[in-house]
Amino acid sequence: MRKRLTLNEYKEGVLAGDRTKLSQAITLAESSLESDQALASDLVQQLLPFTGKSVRIGITGVPGVGKSTFIEAFGKMLVEQGKSVAVLAVDPSSQKSKGSILGDKTRMEKLASDKRAFIRPSPTGSTLGGVSSKTREAMLLCEAAGFDAILIETVGVGQSETAVKSMVDFFLLLMLSGAGDELQGIKKGIMEMADGVVIHKADGDNLAKAKRAKSTYKNALHLFPLGDNKWSAPVITASSLTGEGLNECWQMIHSYQEKMQESGFWEANRSEQRLNWLEENMQYLLGRLFLGNPKVQEMLTQNRSLVASGKLSPLALARDLMQAFFNQKKL
Ligand code: GDP
Repeated sequence: MRKRLTLNEYKEGVLAGDRTKLSQAITLAESSLESDQALASDLVQQLLPFTGKSVRIGITGVPGVGKSTFIEAFGKMLVEQGKSVAVLAVDPSSQKSKGSILGDKTRMEKLASDKRAFIRPSPTGSTLGGVSSKTREAMLLCEAAGFDAILIETVGVGQSETAVKSMVDFFLLLMLSGAGDELQGIKKGIMEMADGVVIHKADGDNLAKAKRAKSTYKNALHLFPLGDNKWSAPVITASSLTGEGLNECWQMIHSYQEKMQESGFWEANRSEQRLNWLEENMQYLLGRLFLGNPKVQEMLTQNRSLVASGKLSPLALARDLMQAFFNQKKL
């Protein structure tokens, strides 16, 4: 069995910025063992006063847009400016594909070898709720370890964007300049979530196209009504190969931070996110308890095919399961 440290050893290790202990603490948080989860929960509680100082940045875009390359180049630029950077990921599909988006060791090698950077592959889990809760814990542990910026990568498939948006301060969307189909391939909902858009791979033959795409996106984004933060998402062009635009991207995030801290939105948003996390956790824990119940499992096994074939109403079975779970009168 894997060796566990004491609560205090984890705590002191994380606070000292010890990478090995930080990794072990994240592994603890990712464990599905009840005793590990209880210990991780105590650890997060004890470290809470030391969290909150990092800027939390979510990064999304369709596969191939260059997220990993961008994170590596952007992260490298930040460490060269003297900042420390942690990279995490939310990838609910990783179980199916048997490899997480950050799991490939050959990716982000340069950044990974820098001692001011910390890269953690995405946790595996059967539900997005479970995975995103673990990522939030990992994020808080990284904050307590003193990282200035936390970059959270997600694949552009819809639900995981919403999960990442609900845990970050700034949500960055990477796009490509396509041949006339700039607005294709990415859901409008995801565009609406973005606090900033980067037209990526703006280099070589692509440069002129990227500039044109920039004004197309600018016009499109202007059509969206402003949200509570009264911020209109800027659009910039950047290349991770030449490094062009990367600093502008950081300036964009920095200026957002300044404005939002001044208006109070920064903290209000984080408060709301904490409450969302509470909600998510309650639903997740309740779901686990319910589905882990032997009587529920037995009834489910017996009756699933009846629901699938249309002979038994899903609503009726769900209510019966609930009733069996609580072992009480019909709801
Ligand atoms: P991801 O799937 O979004 O993580 O994309 P990757 O980072 O794996 O990049 C996909 C491909 O785009 C790779 O072949 C990269 O070399 C290439 N790429 C990434 N960034 C740039 C860039 O700034 N300019 C150009 N020209 N190619 C890039």
